[in-house]
Amino acid sequence: MRKRIAVLKGDGIGPEIVGEALKVLEAVAVAYGHHFAYQDLDIGGCAIDKTGVPLPRETIDGCLAADSTLLGAVGGPKWDSVPGDRRPEKGLLGIRSAMGLFANLRPAKLFPQLAAASPLRADIVARGIDFLVVRELIGGVYFGEHKTETINSERVATDVMPYAEHEIERILRVGFETAKKRRSRMTVVDKANVLDTSRLWRAVAARMAAEYPDVALNYLYVDNASMQLVRDPAQFDVIVTENMFGDILSDEASMITGSIGMIPSASLGAGTRGLYEPIHGSAPDIAGKDLANPVGTILSAAMMLKYSFGLTKESEAIEAAVNSVLEQGLRTGDMMSEGCTLVGCRAMGDAICAAIG
Ligand code: NAD
Repeated sequence: MRKRIAVLKGDGIGPEIVGEALKVLEAVAVAYGHHFAYQDLDIGGCAIDKTGVPLPRETIDGCLAADSTLLGAVGGPKWDSVPGDRRPEKGLLGIRSAMGLFANLRPAKLFPQLAAASPLRADIVARGIDFLVVRELIGGVYFGEHKTETINSERVATDVMPYAEHEIERILRVGFETAKKRRSRMTVVDKANVLDTSRLWRAVAARMAAEYPDVALNYLYVDNASMQLVRDPAQFDVIVTENMFGDILSDEASMITGSIGMIPSASLGAGTRGLYEPIHGSAPDIAGKDLANPVGTILSAAMMLKYSFGLTKESEAIEAAVNSVLEQGLRTGDMMSEGCTLVGCRAMGDAICAAIG
């Protein structure tokens, strides 16, 4: 298979962690006979330094022309005083919207070797944590009308939460299709006892369920879901939910699995093209010191292989390599524990490449 990958290293630890992910992609290419071509493009602070804007046109065009995009992280103290509309983070929101990415996939998977890093009780963790939150990314209350007006001498604020049927259908389809590739269970999280939008989500889900007879579908209210995530996370496979509920639940989900440096994400649109990035930021405190954990970015590359290129076997080979390296006791500083071997960003990447080879 031949694929073109746009590479947005960004700022801070971005170049280091993306560098390791590219090494791993090359190890996969060699092992499985694929050819990946990479194009480096600027985003965030480094783009501001070169061009004056966080998202140059060339970057948008490059991402739209590529088969998929791998991103490190953006931002840092150097650009903290830049005016709001030109801040590095604007580049991130801009590229998501330019690529029409409406679905955010964030896996919550606990590697058993890191069980002690989870804040949950050992008996809960022992049942396993391996689920995926599919969050609607460009609709709902974050994108509805916001206004503050004065009525009867007091301020009244209003935020509108609109969802059209086609927006619901396309995100639910991502959920159903993803569930099919996993353990075929899907939970729609909503607030259907109160919200019209949630009732419409349920109606659309019920209609679409006929197309996916092999996927077991259930519904949970968001308050119950947030409780179930810490009570018994093993019950979940794929959770699909609207923008704001997904924002909150995906942070809860990532916390229960331990280190922020381990967690990948994918943002997907209508086609197979996506944007893949770790969930953490540019970690300026450890940038350039070979201290960063590259695993979140490496697992983001694994998600790219699976969701954009359909290379499930290769994606699983990366996950297995990460597992084997953790089994060997190798740890970066953020996930270090007694009896393990402390390694840097590069050595971690090398070990994962060796495990693939
Ligand atoms: P951060 O995620 O960069 O760092 C939080 C803490 O986690 C730091 O102590 C950092 O050293 C550590 N950490 C993060 N990733 C790590 C990794 N891979 N390995 C080891 N340790 C890791 O969050 P922050 O400090 O709030 O933000 C720093 C900058 O990143 C800010 O400019 C912020 O705006 C930006 N940011 C960018 C993104 C993104 O690009 N998606 C997301 C969040 C924050």
